[in-house]
Amino acid sequence: MSRQGQRLHWSAGIPSARDPMDPYFLATLHSGRDVGRIDPVHVKVRRSVLEVRRTASNRVFFQCRHCAHLHEPERAVSSIVDLVSVDGIYRDVVWFTRYHLRACEHIPRRVREMNAEAPWLAADIRAYWAESAMELGLRDDEERRCVVVDPSVEDATSTESTEPPVFLS
Ligand SMILES: [Zn+2]
Repeated sequence: MSRQGQRLHWSAGIPSARDPMDPYFLATLHSGRDVGRIDPVHVKVRRSVLEVRRTASNRVFFQCRHCAHLHEPERAVSSIVDLVSVDGIYRDVVWFTRYHLRACEHIPRRVREMNAEAPWLAADIRAYWAESAMELGLRDDEERRCVVVDPSVEDATSTESTEPPVFLS
C-alpha cells in the first residue's frame, strides 16, 4: 500500500460538518452464517467492533463502536472505514483490522490480541463480504464513489420499528 493510501485512510473525512452522521441509522454486518466462512478475527470484528453508520446524504461508513464516543483526534488511527464500493469492503476491513484493532485501547484486550493477519486477497471471502453487505441493503453509488443504503431495502428494515442490533463481546 502506498504512503498516499495510508494518508487517505488516516482520516476518512466522514462524517463531516457538511454531511453529519444520521443518528437514527445503525446496523451490523454480523450474521450467524459468518462463523466458518470468514476469518475468526473478522467474525469478532463484524459482531462486536464495527457499527454500520451513514451520513445525512446516505453515505455509508463503518466505525469502531468502542471509541466512537471520543472526538476524532483522540481516537486511534483508522477508527472510521470510508467505503468506496461494496466489492471493496473486505479490503477496507482488513485494513481496519490490521491498524485500528491493535491500536485502539478501548477495544477489549481479548479482541485486540487476536491474530489480525487475515489475507489481503481471497476472492471467495471477498465475495462473501460483498454478498452479505448486499443482503444488508448496501449498494454502490458509482457517481459519488461511495456506498449507500438502498432505499427500498431500508423501508423493509426500518430502524424505527426494530430493536437496535445486539453487540456481543
Ligand atoms: Zn476504536
